[in-house]
Amino acid sequence: MRAVTQFKQGSMIIEMTTKEAATFIHSNPGTKDELVRNLDPDATFKERSYPLIVPFTPVSYNPTDVESTRQLESENGWNNGTILSTRWVKPAEKRSSSQKVAHLMITFTEPQTANLAIRDGITIDHLLLWPKKNRHEPLRCAKCQHFGHIARECIAHGDTCANCGNNHRTSDCLTKDKFFCTACNTDDHASWSCDCPSFIQKCEDTDKRYPDNTLPYFPTDEEWTHATTPSKPPPYKKMPPTTFPNNELHQQRLDDYSTRNEGNRDNSDRAPTRRAAPTRGTRLPSRGFAPS
Ligand SMILES: [Zn+2]
Ligand SMILES: [Zn+2]
Ligand SMILES: [Zn+2]
Repeated sequence: MRAVTQFKQGSMIIEMTTKEAATFIHSNPGTKDELVRNLDPDATFKERSYPLIVPFTPVSYNPTDVESTRQLESENGWNNGTILSTRWVKPAEKRSSSQKVAHLMITFTEPQTANLAIRDGITIDHLLLWPKKNRHEPLRCAKCQHFGHIARECIAHGDTCANCGNNHRTSDCLTKDKFFCTACNTDDHASWSCDCPSFIQKCEDTDKRYPDNTLPYFPTDEEWTHATTPSKPPPYKKMPPTTFPNNELHQQRLDDYSTRNEGNRDNSDRAPTRRAAPTRGTRLPSRGFAPS
């Protein structure tokens, strides 16, 4: 055994020194049961899963329907059962009526298919989409604009605007030509800017805490899966909307985070395109992710 990591919620990760030892435990139910029984009679064994975020998924997709999951597997030439689960990142009921696409989370049972999905893209109803690994991200409060907590946990009395820094909700902002960053206390940029030095620092801190963040793939025996991306986010590309569909608090999370950390293979602004479903076993050409 190499390491045991215990989590507050009661779960633990046991890391083995060799792959053979891990495979032995996985493939011998007796050994697995005994190990778990010795830890705690009520403990259960959970297989590792590989979640990916798929931006721009049409909201017409139904992730709760088992048929849709099987259809997704066959459309992409994956074996039956490759997908453990699918769900929307943000609850569907929180969407505006005009929203056409959303972030879908697909959890795979094995890393190989998840890696190919990141490298070659996937199709959902013949629409070519580019999944990414779900990364740990710095939290920025939508109410006070400071890092480290979310609006629900905020102790500030009033709202601070992410655009101009005045005391109103960002969604109520009428200022077009003035920016203010609350975290940096400067009018150089807005609080939502990806060029914000505080944000860049938080990204680097998060990457240090979660080294997996800088790996675009799930590392396996195949060398191309060991590629890394630089931790500095790419220049900011597009302005986030300053008005939100409804009056509820808008939390700056995955949707905004997805544009950072992609290095030289940034699909985040790549529009989804239609393509014919790949024939089973056909490998699409690699889009040349260059390890740095
Ligand atoms: Zn706050
Ligand atoms: Zn404002
Ligand atoms: Zn800043």
